Amino acid sequence: MKPADTDLSQYRVKGEIPIPTLIGWLTLAAVPLLILFAYRSSLRGDPLTPILLLVFAGLLAANGLIYLLTRHSTLQRRGFITVITVLFTYLAVRAVEDGSAIIWLFAYPPIIFYISQARVGVLACSGGLAAVALLFSPLGDLVFDSPYSTSFRLTMLAVLAFEMSTCYVLDQSRRRSKLSLLKLAREFEYAAKHDALTGLANRREVMAQLDSEYQRYLRNAREFSVLLMDIDLFKSVNDNYGHHVGDEMIVLVATTLREQCRKVDTLARWGGEEYLVLLPETGTAEAVQTANRIRESVGSKTINAEEQAIAATISVGVATISGSESVDRLLQRADEALYRAKTLGRNTVCHAESSAVPEPA
Ligand code: GH3
Ligand code: MG
Ligand code: MG
Repeated sequence: MKPADTDLSQYRVKGEIPIPTLIGWLTLAAVPLLILFAYRSSLRGDPLTPILLLVFAGLLAANGLIYLLTRHSTLQRRGFITVITVLFTYLAVRAVEDGSAIIWLFAYPPIIFYISQARVGVLACSGGLAAVALLFSPLGDLVFDSPYSTSFRLTMLAVLAFEMSTCYVLDQSRRRSKLSLLKLAREFEYAAKHDALTGLANRREVMAQLDSEYQRYLRNAREFSVLLMDIDLFKSVNDNYGHHVGDEMIVLVATTLREQCRKVDTLARWGGEEYLVLLPETGTAEAVQTANRIRESVGSKTINAEEQAIAATISVGVATISGSESVDRLLQRADEALYRAKTLGRNTVCHAESSAVPEPA
């Protein structure tokens, strides 16, 4: 299976602040600041602003508490965006702190781009810029009577537009780098678990799968089997037709395994021309049947080299876990069975406890 390009959500870039934590820190910083500005406004005898700033502080704190109780990060993010959008609008419209509080609008674009998707960032920033332009327009003056000078309005709009565009560009580049890093991580992970030639699991990966299957066996007594396979007289294929034809044969056997096994089975390249198949919840009879099916299917296929059809055969050692034996012991028994299959003339399946298993009629 090739690595997919999508669903990279399980990976996180090291050093990146998780969004719930960032919102938590921003909330912790914003609440005392709002209380401070509420206090300053109350000194000026403004009756409404202190109450509203305290309400905003309360809403942010409540949003944080709800997150701590529910761990619902989407709700936390949406709540936070809503509260700060209304807060910043209020700061601009009411010209809080002698009109200087509008400068807090510059904090809006980086926060929005960081905590939400690019699309939400673009929408929120375009909407915000349009709202500020409207506030600064003659229509805005008619409704809100803002105290801002013309030069301040022009500079504010220009710098805000510049900052929003820069945030967008930086955010795009951040997202692209993150995506390619995550893709790389996924490819490395894939390469660490799979064999490059066949795409089957490698030895390390199948050992990990064997270990979890073994733990399941110890807990629930669900038996499982392994098939250890080896291509017969493979060296002569290499010697007679070349290494690349040998490689083709290795891939042919891997393809056959994929065709003949279930999704739950782990198919691995164990070594050069050896394979290991892990069959979960499979007893001896079914494992031997599967082994014979694979053996017959491999035998029925050919590859073309030097205008000749070359057929391959495999020998298989089958072992089913029993008693309190270890995984190493199980593999040893499968290896012994494989050796027996070779000595019995190859193209044969042998079970660990029995001698040659007769071919099905
Ligand atoms: P037997 O039936 O007893 O298994 O005989 P055999 O010739 O298959 O066994 P042997 O172990 O002597 O040969 C295995 C050969 O597989 C030797 C090695 O050069 C070759 N080999 C190992 N890995 C690869 C590979 O990735 N590609 C190719 N083409 N050959 C490989
Ligand atoms: Mg071998
Ligand atoms: Mg061999």
